[in-house]
Amino acid sequence: MALPRPPEPGVLRDPEVDRLLNQPDHQGLELPHSRQVYTNRSMNLEDTHLVGFDMDYTLAVYSMRQIEELAFRMTLERLVATKGYPADLVCLRYDHEFVIRGLVVDKAFGNIFKMDRHNHVGRCYHGRRELKLDERRALYQTNEKIRLSLPRFAWIDTLFSLPEACLYAEIIEALEARGIDIDYHKLYDDTRDTIDEVHRDGSLKTELKKDLGKYIEPDPELASALHKLRSGGKRLFVLTNSLWDYTDPVMSYLLDGRLAEYASWRNYFDYVIVGAQKPAFFAEHKPFTELRPDGTVASTNVESFERGRIYEGGNLFDFERLTGYGGENVLYVGDHIYGDIIRNRKASQWRTCFVVQELEKEIEYIDEHRDEVHKLNELDALRGRLDDLINHHKLMLNSLDRKLDRAAPALAQELEAMRTREKRDLETLRRAFKAAITESADTERRFERGANAYWGLVFKEGNENSRFGEQVQDYADLYTSRVSNFLYYSPMQVFRSPRAAMPHERIRGY
Ligand code: IMP
Ligand code: MG
Repeated sequence: MALPRPPEPGVLRDPEVDRLLNQPDHQGLELPHSRQVYTNRSMNLEDTHLVGFDMDYTLAVYSMRQIEELAFRMTLERLVATKGYPADLVCLRYDHEFVIRGLVVDKAFGNIFKMDRHNHVGRCYHGRRELKLDERRALYQTNEKIRLSLPRFAWIDTLFSLPEACLYAEIIEALEARGIDIDYHKLYDDTRDTIDEVHRDGSLKTELKKDLGKYIEPDPELASALHKLRSGGKRLFVLTNSLWDYTDPVMSYLLDGRLAEYASWRNYFDYVIVGAQKPAFFAEHKPFTELRPDGTVASTNVESFERGRIYEGGNLFDFERLTGYGGENVLYVGDHIYGDIIRNRKASQWRTCFVVQELEKEIEYIDEHRDEVHKLNELDALRGRLDDLINHHKLMLNSLDRKLDRAAPALAQELEAMRTREKRDLETLRRAFKAAITESADTERRFERGANAYWGLVFKEGNENSRFGEQVQDYADLYTSRVSNFLYYSPMQVFRSPRAAMPHERIRGY
C-alpha cells in the first residue's frame, strides 16, 4: 500500500515564498561543509554579548604533526634521562596516524581502545598489535562496566595528549619485543608525569617560541572573524591556561599587523586572562592577579577589570562579577572537551562552541565518500527490512507446521506445498541477510580504514557515534572546525539545531 504524502505546510503554496526559498542562501549554506558551524542546541547570537576564546588549539591552530612530534621527542628523551628507561628507546618514531582524540588508555592491561557511545569497546591495541575479537571480548565484555573516572583509565581528550598515548604504545611494543616485563600502570604514570613536566617547566614552550612559524598555522581569516564579532557589538575575551610569557608571543604572531584598525592583538579583546587553570577556573575560587606587560605582578587585589590590562588565574564567579556579564549572554569557544566545555557547562550557564580541528578533514573525507555513506545507509535499511521479513516468514512457517499436524489428508498436500514455498523464501531471505551483513561490514571497514587505518573516524565507532562524538553532541551547543568559520555568519545569526526525534517518531516512508 502506498504511503500517504506528508502534508505540505500551507506557507509553501505562496509562489513568492517559493521564489525566495529557491534563491541561493548567503547564511552559511553555501559554505563548504567542513567550514560550517554545527548546532546541537539552538542559540541566537544576538543574545550573546561577550564571546570568549581559549588560545591553544582554538585561536592558535597548531600544525598537529609538528607539535606532537616535538612533544613526543622531548618527553621520550626525558623519560630515558630521568626515569631509567633504556637509552636506545630514543630511536622510537612518532606515528601521527596511530593516535586520535577520544581514545582511552587502560593502564591495567597496557591497552588503548576506542569506545562507542554505549561505552562498548570497539577497536583495541596492545602496543602496536590490534587485539582480536575474542581477546577484546574476554577483557571488556564482562559484566563490569567501564568507568572512565577510575584511575585505571586515562581519557585522551585533548590534542595535547596524543603524544603520550603514542609513546605508551611504542614503549610497550619495544620493551615486550625484548621480553621485558612491564608495569603498565607505572609506565603510563611515568609518561604522563614527564610530558606534564615538559609542559610545565617551559621547555616545550621555549622550543615552540624559537620557531612559531613551524608550529602554528596562522589563519588569514581569524582577524576578520574577530573584527566582525566586535562590529556586531560584542565584547571579546581570551581565557587561556597558557601563561603570559607564552600567550603574548603566540597572540602577537596570530594577530599583530593583520588589520589596520588593530595595532596590537590586545586591541581585539576587552579582557585577557592567562594562567586560568581550567577546569579549576570553573570549579574553584582562586583570586585574579593583575600582571604588568613584562609579566611581573601589578596587583593581587583585583577589584575591577579594565580593558587593556592583563589578568592571571581567577574563577568563574569573580569573572562574571567583574565583567558584569554572565549566564547565557556569554559564549565560550574552546577545544578541550572537558576543561573548556563539559566542566564549564556543569558550573555555568555559558553557551559553548567546541572547536575540533580534525573536523575539517573528517567532513571532507565523508563528502568525498558520500556514495559509500549512502550505500551504508541503504544496507542498514535493507538489513532491517530483511530481518522483519525473516521473522514474518518464520511465523508463517510455524503456523503451517501447526496446521499440518492437525490437517485432514485432503488439505495436507496443499499445506505441504505452501510449506515448501515458505521454506524456500525463508532461505532466500536468510541468504540475502547474510550477504547484506557481509557487504555492510566490508564497506564499513573500507570506509573507516580510508579515514584512519587504525581507528576509523573520530566521531564514529562502527554504526554508532563514538563516545567522543556523543560528548560533543551532549555538551557543546555549537561545534566547528575553526574560529574563523564565524566570519561567514552574521553576528545576529540564529543557530538552529535540527528538530529532535526519538526513534519511535521516525515514521517510515517520509
Ligand atoms: P589553552 O588551551 O589555551 O587553555 O592552553 C593550554 C595550555 O595547557 C598550554 O599552555 C599547554 O602547554 C598546557 N598543557 C597542555 N597539556 C599539559 C599538561 O599535560 N601539563 C601541563 N600543561 C599542559
Ligand atoms: Mg586549548
